[in-house]
Amino acid sequence: MISTSLLPLESPTPAYICPIDQVCSYLEAAARELKLDQGIVEVLSNPRKVVTVSIPVKRDNGEVQVLAGHRVQHCDILGPYKGGIRYHPAVTLREVSALAMLMTWKCSLLGIPYGGAKGGIAIDPKRYSVGELERITRRYISELIKDIGPAVDIPAPDMGTSAREMAWMMDTYSMNVGHAVPGVVTGKPLSIGGSRGREMATGRGVMIIVREALADLGKSLEGVRVAIQGFGNVGSAAALLLHQEGAKVIAVSTGSGGVFAEVGLDIPALKAYAAANHKSIVGFPQGVSISNDQLLTLPCDVLIPAALENQITEENVNQVQAQIIAEAANGPITLEANLALEARGVTVLPDILANAGGVVVSYLEWVQGLSYVFWDEERVNREMEQLMVQAYRQVIQQSQMRQIPLRLAAYTLGVGRVAQALSDRGLYP
Ligand code: GLU
Repeated sequence: MISTSLLPLESPTPAYICPIDQVCSYLEAAARELKLDQGIVEVLSNPRKVVTVSIPVKRDNGEVQVLAGHRVQHCDILGPYKGGIRYHPAVTLREVSALAMLMTWKCSLLGIPYGGAKGGIAIDPKRYSVGELERITRRYISELIKDIGPAVDIPAPDMGTSAREMAWMMDTYSMNVGHAVPGVVTGKPLSIGGSRGREMATGRGVMIIVREALADLGKSLEGVRVAIQGFGNVGSAAALLLHQEGAKVIAVSTGSGGVFAEVGLDIPALKAYAAANHKSIVGFPQGVSISNDQLLTLPCDVLIPAALENQITEENVNQVQAQIIAEAANGPITLEANLALEARGVTVLPDILANAGGVVVSYLEWVQGLSYVFWDEERVNREMEQLMVQAYRQVIQQSQMRQIPLRLAAYTLGVGRVAQALSDRGLYP
């Protein structure tokens, strides 16, 4: 198996599933399908640049804590690096590297001129005050000042970060270079050049891809029973938009538990409940309690894992009942579980397609910023929908033409375009 030789090993626990090995093995499968030269595969399986910086932060109680902040730049063959910055306790360098590689294939698949990157700090942001988070974010970006920029590497929100952190990042970068540089990050507040529609974009993209997949089966969203794991930025937006389109969202869960209602949950009411209860949906009166694990195996038509990696595994895959799974999270299905689902004929809409709506609107935000012309939400949504539907159609066509599952089809497109660009550009020097 090919692997990334540049990264240090992490000490594995018995249940450890190495995220970079998983992504590399999808790359390997795509390379085999495309009959790519081994040298090209070797280049693509290693990140171009891996940066780890130390972030000393003064806590509110006066103590100094030193955190590690990562930024992995996988590949800039198609354009500047692009990808989110994650604040989550499970962040590791290997996870960030895997996610950076996913971003490369995602951007290439969607036809947007970026390479993949990802960043992260292993913290639980809920355990830090707003002031502490601001100091952490500003120091992290100061340390990365030479590695990012609107033509170099453009960070964006990911798990645990939002428009608020992007504003701090934009300001820190701008203060360091001496003038305002809105294009250094995307997912910014509207007041500093953010795009309309960005906040809901990943969820909207998920809804669009599910809608297209159902249409190919002769069905519509109306009355379709959906279960969603995760009620953060992506899960809650997908839930709301699916609900508005007539789907029955029968269950939603978060790390602390979830709710189920056979008749379908009132998603606007659930969002209001979560907002009033520190983002928790536990105890929502219009449903019964279920666990985060139970949600995955509920009888439903569409399952949307919208939380962390490795949620559907060898352990629970045989109990999964949905006929369609849309990967709103990155890497929510392990390699073995993916094989089992494919063997059973379950339609798996892969992450690099299903959750690409976010980076597509990030791209539209960057384009608006560069052209100093800002669009209304309807235009943003329309342009994003066009790119999502086009990529979906290409994946279906590729899958039919090569007689391969959707994930491999998406990878052959994403990887194939980057490999082509690499051989056109040639190796330097
Ligand atoms: N973090 C998001 C992703 O994984 C968005 C990245 C971006 O907008 O650059 O796709």
